[in-house]
Amino acid sequence: MKKKSENAASLRQKAEEHLNKRKPNTNKMASETNTLKLIHELEVHQIELELQNEELLLANQRAYEASEKYKELYDFAPSGYFTLSQEGKILELNLCGARMLGKDRSFLINKSFNQFINEDSRSVFTTFLEEIFQGDSNNTCEVPLCLKDHTGLHVQLTGIVSENKEQCLATVTDITERKLNEEKIQRNEERLRLALKATNDVVWDWDIVNDSQKWNEAGEKVFGWTEIIENEANAAWWIERVHPDDRQRVEEGFFEVVNNNSRNKWQDEYRFRKADGTYSDVLDRGYVTHNNQGKAIRMIGAMLDITERKKAEKALQESELFANSIANTTPALLYLYDFDQEKNIWSNEAHKNFFKEININASELRYSDIYQLIHPDNLDSSVAHVNELLDSNGVSRFNMEIRIKWKDNWKWMKHFVRVFKSNDDGKPVQLLGALFDIDDQKKTEQDLLEAKEKAEESDRLKSAFLANMSHEIRTPMNGILGFADLLKTPGLAGEEQHKYIEIIENSGIRMLNIIKDIIDISKIEAGQMELNVKKSDINAQIRDIYNFFIPEAKSKQLKLSFVNSLPEEKAIIKTDFEKVYAILANLVKNALKYTSTGSIEFGYNLAGEHQPVELEFYVKDTGIGIPKERQEAIFERFIQADISDKMAHQGAGLGLAISKAYVEMLDGKIWVESSAGTGSTFYFTLPYNAEQVREIADRQDAPSEKNNINRKLKILIVEDDEVSAHLIDINSRMFVREILKARTGFEAVETCRNNPDIDLILMDIRMPEMNGYVAATKIREFNNEVIIIAQTAYGLSGDREKAIIAGCNDYISKPVNKNELLDLIEKYFGK
Ligand code: ADP
Repeated sequence: MKKKSENAASLRQKAEEHLNKRKPNTNKMASETNTLKLIHELEVHQIELELQNEELLLANQRAYEASEKYKELYDFAPSGYFTLSQEGKILELNLCGARMLGKDRSFLINKSFNQFINEDSRSVFTTFLEEIFQGDSNNTCEVPLCLKDHTGLHVQLTGIVSENKEQCLATVTDITERKLNEEKIQRNEERLRLALKATNDVVWDWDIVNDSQKWNEAGEKVFGWTEIIENEANAAWWIERVHPDDRQRVEEGFFEVVNNNSRNKWQDEYRFRKADGTYSDVLDRGYVTHNNQGKAIRMIGAMLDITERKKAEKALQESELFANSIANTTPALLYLYDFDQEKNIWSNEAHKNFFKEININASELRYSDIYQLIHPDNLDSSVAHVNELLDSNGVSRFNMEIRIKWKDNWKWMKHFVRVFKSNDDGKPVQLLGALFDIDDQKKTEQDLLEAKEKAEESDRLKSAFLANMSHEIRTPMNGILGFADLLKTPGLAGEEQHKYIEIIENSGIRMLNIIKDIIDISKIEAGQMELNVKKSDINAQIRDIYNFFIPEAKSKQLKLSFVNSLPEEKAIIKTDFEKVYAILANLVKNALKYTSTGSIEFGYNLAGEHQPVELEFYVKDTGIGIPKERQEAIFERFIQADISDKMAHQGAGLGLAISKAYVEMLDGKIWVESSAGTGSTFYFTLPYNAEQVREIADRQDAPSEKNNINRKLKILIVEDDEVSAHLIDINSRMFVREILKARTGFEAVETCRNNPDIDLILMDIRMPEMNGYVAATKIREFNNEVIIIAQTAYGLSGDREKAIIAGCNDYISKPVNKNELLDLIEKYFGK
C-alpha cells in the first residue's frame, strides 16, 4: 500500500513538472481560481494518463520480451516440464519433454503419460499421480520409460498440484546415467560381498573412532570365532587373541602405525588364537585412513592364515638344517659347480677348509684351477670324464681316483661327480662333487701290497734258503761222516790220517758257522740280540783278524794286509767288540771267499771333519765284484741263496745281513762299492768315542796256549752227552788235578755235596730230570764258593741271564771252544 501511494505521488509530481513546462506561470484572479484549479487538475490527470500509457506500453514491451525469454527457457530447459491432467493426460509440455518421449509436441498433447512408461512400473506412476492430487506437497517417483528408440531410459518425476487443483505440474529428469551408476555400484557391492563371503582371507574393518571391528565370514570359518560375525569385535578383543609371546611386539608395531599420521600401512606375522584354543600363524596387513585433520579414523585389513606355509617353511628349514648338518659332518669334501657362472657356488666346511689350508678360496674355485692341482697322470681322464657329462649323452655320473697336489705332497682322493641340474635343453649346468681322502687307505693298500710281495718274496727266499741250507749242512756232514768212516781204514796213519782229521775238523767248523749264523739272525729278528758295550782296542782287533785269516790267505796265495791309522792310545773306543769282530771277520772272510787272485786290504780311517766323528772301516778285495743291481740286495737275509750264479761258493747268505744288523745296532752304516770283475770295497762306520788314555784292552792278541792259573783244579763236568763231556775232559786236562763227572742235575748236586773241595763246575743246562739251572740253584744252597760255569747252547735267548740268576758265575757257549774255556779259567783262577 505504501508503495502504491508512493508511486501515485511520484506520478503526480512528474505530471506537474510536464504541465509547468508546457504553460508558464500566470497570475489569475481568485474567481478563476477554482476553475483554473479544476482545469489544472484535468490537465495534470491527462498528462498522468499519458505518462501512464507510456509506462504501460513500456511494461507491455518488457512483458512480451520476458514472456519470449521464459518461453525459450521453458522449451530449452534440460528437464522436461509437463502439465498433466488428473487422468494423466499431457496437457502441456516443453520441447525437452517432447524430446525425452521422442515425439512431436503436438502429437503428445492429450496423450496419456502412462503409455510411455514401462508396463511394470505404470502402477508406480498412477500412485504418484494419485498422491499428488490428494495432497498439496510435491511428490517424486522414478520410472523406466518404454520408448521405441530410447530403450533403457530412466526418468525421475517431481510433481505438484496446480493452484486450481486440476492440473499436475511435473518436472521429468533423465536419471538413466545415475541409475546405471547405481546399478553398477550395487553390482560391485554385491560382487565384493560375495567375494568377501567366499574368500578364506579374513578381512576386518576397524572403525577407530568408535573402536568397533567388523570381520567377514572367513573370520569365523578360519578361526571359529562366531562372535566376530554376530557381535562386533574391537581392538582389545583382537589383541587379547594374539599369542602372549608375540603380543607386545604386535601391539607396539600396530599402534605405532595407527598413531603416526605419516604412515598408513601396517604388516606383521604372529600367532592368533582360534576358538578351539590352538594358535594359527597369520600374516596380517592393515591400511589406515585419516580424516582431514590427519587423525586415523578407519583401518581395513586382511589376515591370512599362513600356518601351513609356516609349517612348510619350518620343514624346509629343518630339512635344510639336516642337509647342512650332514654336509658339514661328513669328512667328504662336497661342492656344487655351476658351468654358467663358471665357478664353484657351494662348498661344505670340509671342502672350504681343505682348500683354505692351501690358500685357495673354495668359493671362487674353477675347474681350470682344480686341473692345475691334479696329478698329470690323472688329468686327462679327469677332463675326459667331465666333458663326457657335459656332452649330455646319457652319462650323468662318474667316479675316479685322483691325486691332488696338497702342500708338498700328492694326496690320493676318490672323486664322485654327478649332474645336479640341467637346463631346458638337457645340458648339464651344475655338477655335485664329493672328494674323499683315501690317502691313508691307498698307503695301506700299497703297504699291504708291498707286504704281500715281501711275504711272497720271503717265502720264496725261505724255500730257496732251506734248499740251500740243506745243501750247506749236508756238504760238511758228508765230509765228517765220509772221512770219519775212512779213518777206520786199517793201517791208516801219518799224513793221510792227519789230512782226514783236518777235513773232518774243517767240515765241523763250517757247520758250526752255519748254525751260528742261523741263531744270530733269529736273535736279531726276534729283537733279542743284545749289545755288550765295553772299552775296545780297535787296533788290536784289526791285528786279531789279520792273524786269524793270514793262514787262509797264504793258502790261497792272496796278499792280506791291514792299516791301523790311529796311534794305539787313540784306538780305544767304547763298543761291543764281539760284534765289531764278527763284522770284520765276516767281511774279510767274504773277501777271501770271492777273491781268487790279487790282494785284500782292510783297516779303518777317521772320517768326518766335524763332530760327531766316525771310524770308517773298509775291506777291499780284487775279487769277482758285485753287479750294481745286487749291491743292495746282498745285505738282505738269505739273499745269497737267491743269486743263481753264486759260483758254488759256500755260505748261507746270512753273513752280510747279520753284519748290517750289527752295524746299525752300533749306530753306524754299511755299504759296498764294487764293479763286477774288478773287486769290491765294503765300508762300515762306527761312532768314534775315543778313550784318550789307553787302558788294558778287553781283548788283545789272539788267544794262545795259556797256563797262567795258580793251581791245579778239581772240576766237575756235568754233561749228559758223552762226546761233549769227553771233549771238555781233554781240553781241560792241562789245569786239572781231578775230574768228576755227572750225567744229570741230581748227580751233580749229589757229587757236589759229597765233594766240597770241587773248584769248578762246568754245568750243562739241557739235561734230563733236573736241568742245569735247578742244579746250580740247589748247589748254591750249600756251597757258595765253587765257581759254576754254565754251558749254554750257543746264545739261545736269555740263557746268560737265566744262568746268572740261577747262581752260575759265568757262561760259555757250546760247543766249548778251548781258548774261551782257558780264558774263563784264567779269569777265576788266574795268578
Ligand atoms: P754268504 O754266506 O753267501 O757269503 P753273505 O751275506 O756274506 O753270504 O754275502 C751275500 C752275498 O754277497 C754272497 O753270496 C755274494 O754273492 C756277495 N758277496 C759278499 N761279499 C762279496 C765280495 N767280497 N765279493 C763279491 N761278492 C760278495
